[in-house]
Amino acid sequence: MFSQNPVFIPGPTNIPEELRRAISNPSIDHRSETFVEMFKPALAGVRRILKTDTAEVFIFPSTGTGGWEATITNLLSPGDRILASRHGMFSHRWIDLCQRHGMDMQVIHEEWGKGAPAEAFGAALAEDKGHQIKAVLVTHNETATGVRSDVAAVRRALDAAGHPALLLVDGVSSIASMDFRMDEWGVDAAVTGSQKGFMLPPGLAILGISQKAMQMVGDAKSYRCFFDFNDMKKMNASGGFPYTPPANLIRGLDTAIGMLEAEGIENVFARHHRIAEGVRQAVSAWNMKLCAHEPSLYSDTVSAIRTPEGFNSTQIVTHAANKYQVAFGVGLGDVAGKVFRIGHLGSMTDVMALSGIAAAEMTMVDLGLDVRLGSGVAAAQEYYRTHSVAAQKDAA
Ligand SMILES: *Cc1c(COP(=O)(O)O)cnc(C)c1O
Repeated sequence: MFSQNPVFIPGPTNIPEELRRAISNPSIDHRSETFVEMFKPALAGVRRILKTDTAEVFIFPSTGTGGWEATITNLLSPGDRILASRHGMFSHRWIDLCQRHGMDMQVIHEEWGKGAPAEAFGAALAEDKGHQIKAVLVTHNETATGVRSDVAAVRRALDAAGHPALLLVDGVSSIASMDFRMDEWGVDAAVTGSQKGFMLPPGLAILGISQKAMQMVGDAKSYRCFFDFNDMKKMNASGGFPYTPPANLIRGLDTAIGMLEAEGIENVFARHHRIAEGVRQAVSAWNMKLCAHEPSLYSDTVSAIRTPEGFNSTQIVTHAANKYQVAFGVGLGDVAGKVFRIGHLGSMTDVMALSGIAAAEMTMVDLGLDVRLGSGVAAAQEYYRTHSVAAQKDAA
């Protein structure tokens, strides 16, 4: 079926024409200078996006999940204790991956709709006098619930306890879309992928690894080969790769970073915030609530919207796809059937967001929900009209 509609899933995100062109180049010899010339600026660009001066950057042919695995297997050994909280499908899956690698997981179960519990982490770290905990996991943006966690607060909890554990952060659905400061927050591993904020197809795991974490690689006893940081670092030093690099995606990554920096990364964050706020205005106009418990937790990249009791939210996603060829996200795990998700990250504008809100409204009216056509659209229009970049400039 023909459709030029944008997708409103929280990844893979819409791919701008400029990036489609950047990745459609013919094959090159990856051992040639041509590859080095595209690879080195991409690595430097990732370092700027992560806001780190000192971390190693790694790019693997993989996805975010591979980024988790690379982090765990290079930095830790089976039996190591890891502190984490389970508060959504993605934090759940990272915990599951660690368990399958034989890690000793200390899991704090949080309500879905809340963030990583910095205070409870602090208490667990303070109690761990023998420093058995080797790492703390934080899912910066829980894509299943639309919840942003306070990474800086977890860093403060580690410091307050005087605890040396590594701070490992899943930033797959936040990095390049929402404020992220690797060095300032003392993040030891930052994990992301190509298909969310970077607006590319899936295929790259993108990692920042602190020098403190790099010192663990030699002693970490988990099995690894494809994802070995030391092999990759050695080859990267001369601009090479230990195996065939995904050259087209790497070229795309360099181009994507150029686009983000041309807009200005702080402007990119402001755009995501504005678009998200318009979606939230629409949700209020529908008399619905977000899964996220309070405004400080609201994600600027994805909104998980609670549907009325007794209604199966998956119907919204199925109906919108079948009738309007528009993709929204289903509820996952504990909130399956209870929420649907609007992804609003990456290559997205106010006008695109309005079309998604309008499609969601038509769908909900079709399905008999108590929503009035135009109500959410009008609320978002009013917000975008008064908060556009041009309106802000006029006011100043
Ligand atoms: C998308 C996503 C992932 C990774 O998923 P992949 O499908 O492996 O790329 C991990 N964590 C979060 C928070 C995500 O949104």
